[in-house]
Amino acid sequence: MTNFFHAPITELPKVGKVRASLCAKLGLKTVGDLLYHFPRSYQDRGDIRKVCLCEPEVTHAFLLTVATPPKTAKLSRSMSITKFTVFDDSGKASVTFFNQPFVKDVFCVGATYRFFGKLKKKGGVPELVSPQYELYNESAPPADLYPVYPLTAGLNNKTMTAMVKSAFAPFTRDGICYLPETLPSYLIEEYGLLSAGAAVSGLHFPSDLGGLEKARRRLFFEQMLVFSLGISVNRRQMNACDRKPFPMEKKDDQPLLSRLGFAFTGAQRRAADEIASDMTAKNKRPMTRLLSGDVGSGKTAVAAYAAYQAVANGLQVSLMAPTEILARQHYKDLAPLFESMGYATALLLGSTRAAEKKNIYAGMQRGQISLVIGTHALLNENALFHSLGLVITDEQHRFGFAQRAALLSQTLDKAHYPHMLAMSATPIPRTMALIVYGDMDLSHLNELPPGRQRVDTFLVDESYRQRLNGFIRKQAEAGGQVYIVCPAVESDSEEESEDAGGDGETLMPLKAAVNYAQTLKNEIFPDLNVGFIHGKMNAADKDRVMEAFAANEIHILVSTTVIEVGVNVPNATLMIVENADRFGLSQLHQLRGRVGRGSKKAYCVLVSDSKNEKTRERLTVMKTTYDGYRIAEQDLAQRGPGDFLPSKGGGLRQHGEMEFNLSPAGGGDMELLRQAVDCAKAIAESDPDLSEEKNALLKKAVGELFEGDINA
Ligand code: ADP
Ligand code: MG
Repeated sequence: MTNFFHAPITELPKVGKVRASLCAKLGLKTVGDLLYHFPRSYQDRGDIRKVCLCEPEVTHAFLLTVATPPKTAKLSRSMSITKFTVFDDSGKASVTFFNQPFVKDVFCVGATYRFFGKLKKKGGVPELVSPQYELYNESAPPADLYPVYPLTAGLNNKTMTAMVKSAFAPFTRDGICYLPETLPSYLIEEYGLLSAGAAVSGLHFPSDLGGLEKARRRLFFEQMLVFSLGISVNRRQMNACDRKPFPMEKKDDQPLLSRLGFAFTGAQRRAADEIASDMTAKNKRPMTRLLSGDVGSGKTAVAAYAAYQAVANGLQVSLMAPTEILARQHYKDLAPLFESMGYATALLLGSTRAAEKKNIYAGMQRGQISLVIGTHALLNENALFHSLGLVITDEQHRFGFAQRAALLSQTLDKAHYPHMLAMSATPIPRTMALIVYGDMDLSHLNELPPGRQRVDTFLVDESYRQRLNGFIRKQAEAGGQVYIVCPAVESDSEEESEDAGGDGETLMPLKAAVNYAQTLKNEIFPDLNVGFIHGKMNAADKDRVMEAFAANEIHILVSTTVIEVGVNVPNATLMIVENADRFGLSQLHQLRGRVGRGSKKAYCVLVSDSKNEKTRERLTVMKTTYDGYRIAEQDLAQRGPGDFLPSKGGGLRQHGEMEFNLSPAGGGDMELLRQAVDCAKAIAESDPDLSEEKNALLKKAVGELFEGDINA
C-alpha cells in the first residue's frame, strides 16, 4: 500500500501521459501528491432550492427529475446543443448543455439528479445552462460539500475530483481510509486527532462542516507541530553545540550611515542597536533575531547596518532572498554601498554562469568576498565560507534555519557559529509572532520613514472596466507606470471547462497574466508598452522585463504575484489587482506597497466581481486601513492564522480564498496553534535529537521540511 502511495500518477485508471503532464504542472507526480492536493474551497450543494421558487442569476443546488429524453441538435460543424425537461414539486425547468452531446446518454427519464448551477429565467421558464450534476440516490445521498480544486489549463474540476476519488480507492476498505501515518500514535491519542487517512479523505470529501473541521484540525496541528519542532530542535542543537560566535566589537557606524542618503528613523536606530548589542555581547549565544516592520519601513537599511558591523570586524556575511529579482535588487542597492567602503561583494544566483560561480566560491573560501548576496544558490555545497559571521534572510524565515544548519558544514571555520537575522515581508501580528517565533528575539520597526504618502485605494467591479482603462491611460500619459496583478498565469481551465457555466462564484473566471497582457496590448492600449512577468518564466527573461519596467520602458506591467515582495520601482503610480477576492489582505497590502515609493501620488484599485458579502466586507478593509499590522490582525481574525505560517513552498501562505470560513473564527485555530507549539517545545525538551523510537515519524517530517529548502 505504501508503495502505491509513491507510485507515479499514471498508475491510476484513466490517467495517461496527457493528464500526468497536466498534473505535473501542479506539482503532482505521485499518487500521494494527488492525495495531498487539497481543495481550495467547497461548494455547498446541500442547500437545495425549488426550481420555480428560486430567484434567478444566483447559483444553487436543485434536485430535479428528468421528464423528457435529451435531444441534441447541431448548430454548426463544431457546435451542438442538448436539451431536456426536468421537474421538482414546484414545477418544470429546462436543462441545456452546449457542445456536450455525450450527456444525451447520461440522463435517463425518471432518474433524479442533483444539479448545481446558475438559474436563468427566460420568458418565465427556468433554465439551467451547462450545470454540474450528480445522480441522486435517496438511500445514499451525495455529501453536501463538493470540493473545488486548484486547477491548470486543460484540467477541469470534475476530472480532478474523479482522479482524487480513484486515488483513494486502493487505500479504502469498508468505507475507512488508511494512509501511511505521519504522526506518532501517542500524539494522535493525546490530542484526540483523526488518523492521517481519515483527515486527508475528510478534507477532500467531507461528510459535513463538522467533519471538515475535524480533518482540518488534524492537518493544521501536524503542520504547526512539525514546523515548530524544527525551529526548537535547530535552536537547541545550536545552543548545545560547542561553537561560539566570532568575537566582535562595535565599529564606528559613520562610514555606513553617511552613505545611506537619509537618517535612520528612531525605530531603525533601535533595531540597529539591538542587533549590534547581540552581535558584540561577550560569551553569548549567536543572535537569532526576527526583524519585522511594515512594507517600506526600511528593513534593508537595518540589514545593511548588521552586515556592516560584521564586515567591519573582518567577517563575512551572506544575504539570501527568495527570488532572483529580489536578490538582484538587494545587490544593486548594497553592492555600491559596501564596495565604496572597500568591501568586496558578489551576487550568486542559480543562473550565474559556472565559471563565475567558481570564481565566487574561491573568493568566498579565501575570505576575500565580504558580502555575498544570492538565492538558494548560496546553499550549494561548494559555496564554502572562510569566516561567516552573519546570515541574513529576506522574506523567508524558514530559510534562516535551514541555511544556518546547512552552513555548519559549509564553513571552513569549524569553531564558530554565525549570527542570524531574518527579515519578514508580511507584517506578522505580534500575537502570532510570539507563538510561532517565540524562540527568536524580535526587533520591530514601528515607524515609517518621513514623507510617505498614502496610496488611495478603491474597490470596484467589472462595470468600472472602461473608466479603469481610462485611468490607466491617464497615469501613463502623466509619466507614471502601472502594475496589473492577476491571480493566474495562463487562461485556466476554470472558465473553459465543460462544467464551467454553473459554478458561479467559486469558478469565477480568473484573469490570467499572459492572456490579459495580450488583450491589453492588441485591443486597448496599442500605443503603450505592455509587458508581462510571471513565476514560470526563466530568470533571465524575468530580469529583462523587470529591468525594462524599472527603466520606464514598459508602461503597463501585467504580472502574477512574483512582484509581491520587495520590488522597488519608485515611478510606479498605479496598482491594479484583478480578482482581488482571491488574495489575502496582507498580500494585497504587500502588493499595494509596490506603489507610492516615489514622490508622485499613487493609487491602488482592487477589482472584484464577488457578490459574497463577507468577501466585500473583507476587501473594504483595504480602503480604510493603511497599517500593515492592523490589516494583518484583520486577516488573522477573519481567516485564521494559516496565512502567516510558512508553507511547504517556502513563503507565507496567502492564496486562495475559502468560500466560507472554515476556521472556527480564528480564535479556535490560535488555541490549536498554541497547543501545537507547546507540544513541540515539550518534545524538543525531552528528546532534543528526536532519537526516541516513538518520535521517528516526527524526525522524518522535520528533516523533510528543512531539507526541502536546502535542496530546492
Ligand atoms: P522594506 O522594509 O519594505 O523592506 P525597504 O528597506 O525596501 O523597505 O525601504 C523602502 C524605501 O525606503 C527604500 O527606498 C529605502 O531607501 C527608503 N528608506 C529606508 N529607510 C529610510 C529612512 N530612514 N529615511 C528615508 N528613506 C528611507
Ligand atoms: Mg524588503
